[in-house]
Amino acid sequence: MYEKIVTFIQDTFATKNFIPLHEPRFIGNEKKYLNECIDSTFVSSVGAYVDRFEKEFALHVGSKYAIATVNGTAALHVSLVLMGVEKDDEVITQPLTFIATCNAITYCGAKPIFVDVDKETLGLSPEALNIFLDENAEIKENRCINKRTGKVIKACVPMHTFGHPCKIDEIKAICDIWHISLIEDAAESLGSYYKSKHTGRFGKVGAFSFNGNKIITSGGGGVIVTDDEALAKRAKHITTTAKVPHKWEFVHDEVGFNYRLPNLNAALLVAQLEQVNGFLKNKRGLAKMYEDFFSSIDVMFIKEPKDAISNYWLNAIMLDNKEQRDLFLEYTNANGVMTRPIWTPMNRLEMFKTCQCGDLSNAVYLEERIVNIPSSVRV
Ligand SMILES: *Cc1c(COP(=O)(O)O)cnc(C)c1O
Repeated sequence: MYEKIVTFIQDTFATKNFIPLHEPRFIGNEKKYLNECIDSTFVSSVGAYVDRFEKEFALHVGSKYAIATVNGTAALHVSLVLMGVEKDDEVITQPLTFIATCNAITYCGAKPIFVDVDKETLGLSPEALNIFLDENAEIKENRCINKRTGKVIKACVPMHTFGHPCKIDEIKAICDIWHISLIEDAAESLGSYYKSKHTGRFGKVGAFSFNGNKIITSGGGGVIVTDDEALAKRAKHITTTAKVPHKWEFVHDEVGFNYRLPNLNAALLVAQLEQVNGFLKNKRGLAKMYEDFFSSIDVMFIKEPKDAISNYWLNAIMLDNKEQRDLFLEYTNANGVMTRPIWTPMNRLEMFKTCQCGDLSNAVYLEERIVNIPSSVRV
């Protein structure tokens, strides 16, 4: 059966050469804009492409403002800062996520709490979140207090795994009841919608990534989206060293970050954004081919959840057990088809071993079975 899968993937990508998991495509105006950017000499943090990208990205996802950052981790970090996450706070997230989510929480001096994911969405489970809060939290003076630690649970960061939207409106409703700020890690979900609203737009702020393996890329890059003018201004301010605008004086009114996206990267990104709808259509086509193929050989292919449109960033299948998963990873990677297991759950990593966890049985189940398969846009 594994041989059949490898052959199918080789046929689908029309090659017998090595097939990576997700490679970028530069088939639009990338070189043109990069040349223009170099000719203008504005290659660094000030420049027309940064402004243009921010306007066009906001328009694309339907948010009022977008603030470009040097990468997705920086976008997440600043989003947490904007929501007031600080030293000794606690932040709820899911154990199955990329390390960046937990790193950003840690940069604030806060500690993650791990709550289980849904089997259908692979993202944070509203049921598990409810159970965790009912058992562990109480509201005091409009703040959510963890009864076990006495600390404030300031924020919740759900993540849309592989671009499949989690049940974000239910999560939002729970966060509202408990006075918890919702910050979406939408790093993987550009082009993914929940009930017709773009992911990343359900909380006050959301963060996206444009790393080399994402749907569109600037080499490295990220963006914060918000509808709140004051938050947008503050995001711009603290990502640009908190410099008070002045013709020649250097006055900074707080400790800011140098998290600006260089204009050079923004030039690449403007060209990539022009192509995103074509990329998404192409990826949907690939997902459909996978779905049909895997149903014909009785392997479970992860489909977009109910009420959602997924960007199918990384396609995934579910194998029967951990032994099957490991055999599959062994065979495919030895035969030139790159595949990868889902992440090691964050609560098992050394740095997060002491973090509080809810019941994580879905995460454990999925970690033993989920594998990503090649998902690049086919040319
Ligand atoms: C890619 C990604 C990020 C951001 O990563 P950067 O490399 O810093 O852009 C954050 N969270 C998740 C879940 C991601 O997949």
